[in-house]
Amino acid sequence: MSLFINADRLYDSIMEIGKIGETEKGGSCRLALTDLDKQARDLLAAWCKKLGCKLIVDQMGNMFFRIKGKDNSLPPIGMGSHLDTQPSGGKYDGVFGVMSALEVLRTLHENNIQTESPIELINWTNEEGSRFAPCMIGSGVYTGKHSLEEGLNCKDNEGKLLGEELKRIGYSGDSMIKPNLKAYIEPHIEQGPILEDEQKSIGIVLGALGQKWYDLEITGLEAHAGPTPMHLRKDALLGAIKIIDAVNRIAQKYKPDGRGTVGELKIYPNSRNVIPGSVLMSIDIRHSQADILDFMEAELKEVILVVSDSMKLKMKLTNVTQFPNVNFNKICIDAVRQSADKLGYSHMNIVSGAGHDAVFVSDVVPTAMIFIPCKDGISHNEIEFASKEDIEKGCNILLHTILKLDKTEI
Ligand SMILES: [Zn+2]
Repeated sequence: MSLFINADRLYDSIMEIGKIGETEKGGSCRLALTDLDKQARDLLAAWCKKLGCKLIVDQMGNMFFRIKGKDNSLPPIGMGSHLDTQPSGGKYDGVFGVMSALEVLRTLHENNIQTESPIELINWTNEEGSRFAPCMIGSGVYTGKHSLEEGLNCKDNEGKLLGEELKRIGYSGDSMIKPNLKAYIEPHIEQGPILEDEQKSIGIVLGALGQKWYDLEITGLEAHAGPTPMHLRKDALLGAIKIIDAVNRIAQKYKPDGRGTVGELKIYPNSRNVIPGSVLMSIDIRHSQADILDFMEAELKEVILVVSDSMKLKMKLTNVTQFPNVNFNKICIDAVRQSADKLGYSHMNIVSGAGHDAVFVSDVVPTAMIFIPCKDGISHNEIEFASKEDIEKGCNILLHTILKLDKTEI
């Protein structure tokens, strides 16, 4: 007979963590390294202690709870996510992953199952990036994407340093841990609408979309809205509209993984009776394949040239940042899929559109993710919701994936 997690216990733990920093509409506000984050960390530590876990905290405050395997010279298998939230976050983003990992440890413990490799539950520091930018700084330093100095010197809006706040709440460790995991599995709510739309319980995450972010500055000429006839205008906003439309068209062309978004627009002088003289806008394009993302970029640049020429506008495109697309480890992905097949849960392949700690970790450790649906695809919102049934399924998949990887050479 298959081993199953205890769904009530898992759900109750998610709800209990959710009470720390609970908001009016039933979400959570638990910004990284606040007193509330400390409370959640302390509660997790207390729960893990009951299972006999050893806690190691690194210099970025990442928490690693380890239970022994039969052979402790083997690299541990990691699983987890993050406990920090957005200011008006939900109860499930991050928490589902950490509590599922805890539930797996509890299930192994009560069934007296000892794996070959040690198992580690990981809680990453400051995934959300809403108090300290950039996001995913804990896993970012762990994986060498950012230096320790960069990590510790992140400042919040009040000028408080991440390193100081770690010390204040008592979660500043002595050293960084070298990425030594055999594998890492992160369960997470999808944060998008695909699984719900396709009526699937489990998303087998193949990787993450590559992203390119730009600023586009469009310069025309401010002039009076009355005396300037239409054919003699240099309207920067009209140029922006053509670019916005093109960004959407380009993303549509590379369905289903293409994404194109203009989320910020600043119009100058932003006055009712002045033709807009300049516009500053953000552009965000994404795709799962690096070569297609390059095509999308080339097409965007071409459109910018054509529009600026025909409308006699100056356009300056600046790269802000980019994240390469990520392909998760095939053996880890297969272990997730085989678990879903074995347990008879409906599943589909999916690519993560958002960043996650797992995306960084996959650079240095064989990694995969497990997605479960969230209602209406909504997250980073107090009304974020995942059903108890899907939470149970996601955690059962985690349990069986970990057991499978324990017996698999990677
Ligand atoms: Zn998250």
